[in-house]
Amino acid sequence: MIKNEAKTTCSYCGVGCGIIIKKDIDNKVLVEADPNHPVSQGMLCSKGMNLHYVVNDTSDRILYPEMRWSRSHPRERVSWDDALDRASGVFKSLIKKYGPDSVAFYVSGQSLTEEYYIANKLTKGFLGTNNIDTNSRLCMSSAVVGYKKAFGEDIVPVSYEDIELADCFLITGANPAWCHPIIFRRIEKHKEKNPHVQIIVIDPRKTDSASFADLHLQLIPGTDVILYNAIGRRLFERGLIDDHFIKNHTEGFKEYKDLIFSTSVKDAARLCGVPEKDIRKAADIIGLSKGFISMWAMGLNQSAIGTDKNVSLINLSLITGQVGKPGSGPFSLTGQPNAMGGREVGGMANLLAVHKDLANEEHRREVAQFWGVDKISPKPGLTATEMFDALESGTLKAVWIMCTNPLVSLPNINKIEKAMANAKFVVVQEISHKSDTVAFADLVLPAAGWLEKEGTMTNSERRISYLPKEMEPPGEARPDVEILCDFAQRMGFRGFNFNSAEEVYNEYCSMTKGTNMDISFLNYDRLKNEGTFQWPVPEYRHQGTPRLFEDKKFYTPSKKAIFNVPQSIVNTSVMPDEAFPLILTNGRIRDQWHTMTKTGKVSRLKTHYPIPVLEINPVDAFINKIKDGDITEIKSKNGVVRVRAKVTDSIRKGVVFLPMHWGKQLENDLNRVNNLTNTVVDPFSKEPDFKFTTVSVSKYKKP
Ligand code: SF4
Repeated sequence: MIKNEAKTTCSYCGVGCGIIIKKDIDNKVLVEADPNHPVSQGMLCSKGMNLHYVVNDTSDRILYPEMRWSRSHPRERVSWDDALDRASGVFKSLIKKYGPDSVAFYVSGQSLTEEYYIANKLTKGFLGTNNIDTNSRLCMSSAVVGYKKAFGEDIVPVSYEDIELADCFLITGANPAWCHPIIFRRIEKHKEKNPHVQIIVIDPRKTDSASFADLHLQLIPGTDVILYNAIGRRLFERGLIDDHFIKNHTEGFKEYKDLIFSTSVKDAARLCGVPEKDIRKAADIIGLSKGFISMWAMGLNQSAIGTDKNVSLINLSLITGQVGKPGSGPFSLTGQPNAMGGREVGGMANLLAVHKDLANEEHRREVAQFWGVDKISPKPGLTATEMFDALESGTLKAVWIMCTNPLVSLPNINKIEKAMANAKFVVVQEISHKSDTVAFADLVLPAAGWLEKEGTMTNSERRISYLPKEMEPPGEARPDVEILCDFAQRMGFRGFNFNSAEEVYNEYCSMTKGTNMDISFLNYDRLKNEGTFQWPVPEYRHQGTPRLFEDKKFYTPSKKAIFNVPQSIVNTSVMPDEAFPLILTNGRIRDQWHTMTKTGKVSRLKTHYPIPVLEINPVDAFINKIKDGDITEIKSKNGVVRVRAKVTDSIRKGVVFLPMHWGKQLENDLNRVNNLTNTVVDPFSKEPDFKFTTVSVSKYKKP
């Protein structure tokens, strides 16, 4: 029997599907798809459909604060007062002795906007350091830089409603059939109704998305920029470009044209390992379409040249004039539910709230004035990987990790383990004991999870949703906002005496007034009563903004979009050699989420891809004397993984694939792909080069 129901948003990916929560007579949560939700239209993927198992099973939950006084003692249960007094005491003494840059916060794209905002206000405004970064650095920071370079600000101009208005999709470095399933389902339905719609997929693997495509370009990893430039050249040669748009609304076309004409389509095909005719065909499909949407995710962003890949792809939207009109535009797919919200509140070491830049003196002054502090430090904060480098070297003394599991998700985990062991003080604010990171904590703070607190999130298309509190957190777990504000007040800081998440939201909203992301007229009441809104919402009765740049006025000083010439057209990753001849790439599987602390609890989500396997091409398997099902040993210069082989021609020769989800707690530490991954980062976005690590593969022989 149903007692009551409420509407909320899925807590997993950046698609942002609508969910109806009901409760049975035992107060157990039930999950249903919201038939009227503008994003998901009555659909949920396997992860969303099974969220109730995650919520109802509290066996893994952290129930009380736990603390240890020294590394040689186990953690023991303490009161919240003792926990936060210790945290504030240690932070005060470290800052006094070593300065504010000796402490850091590492947060998450799964945090709600209010939590993200408070963590940034606390760190940048009051602790006096910009050492706050997020796990979104690992997934979206290259897209942030790409958008800023092309359009002058970190904006996604497109909306999901453009899907049904487009007739050409270029999906590149993404497998939405598995990773953004409801977006992909909308594309599938659109194509089913409109067979003329064309889908091009660029990916070294023949994924489910590629299998559905009209054209699959199975490129050599890292050659994306060359391929996009070749498509650009072919568009130009065929006269399939928008001269009027280029002339009136862009800058930098001459330099771009010189670049794309520096490599022939034939040479590009050879360098990318794809047929020349397929490049020509891709260009023809794009150039002849009326509505062209490019979609991308980690295959572009997680690269040594991630920013270059982003701007090169956006150049294809500019050369065809396919931006700021229905059914067109570049569309990055965010992996986490609130990666966008984090970007909005300045949740990265180099950003400030409301899309202001830390490097800009005027922006720092404005934000400092808003928060009532003397100044914001001009010194750039440590980015995700820099933070753990600094812990390892000892220059950073303490880190507060909130809602993320870096002991599975960061590259070169063996190095991260050493860094964490070397830290003087580690706080982990978490919901689950299943997080590998908890093992390194001196202080564990139990956090409230989905449905146990209220707040807002923004999905991939700038859509803000309100998430209600529907149940009490277990044990003594508290909402993250409350924990952070309590800590801030114990540090002696003003400006954190909020009585609710709504008060935090209102403060943040007032900061957006007059900006390009103005939501100053979007309050909790409207979100609760009217549903979701896409920013900006700059007037009282405004209904939100599905599409940006319809007036062709971009956010650059000249109001023109910018063709960017990439710094490097060739991949700058460490290349294969005799010792490590294969390229390892990695990614998600269909039914698991991130480090499996939530989806790993659900038995039915383990049936599709139950154990991590190495996908290897039959030719590489033959060369390395590996048969399907053999246990393989994969080695890089950083570590070892041992998993079974899946011999498949769905992956191109010279490339192998591992799923990214498994950590130590779930199996053993020989399943972790990040034992292997390299430590290279993109020079602009500082996003790690997860998708390109050189490895050797052999059949494992027990010693
Ligand atoms: Fe949740 Fe993403 Fe699946 Fe939608 S597509 S139900 S947001 S995991």
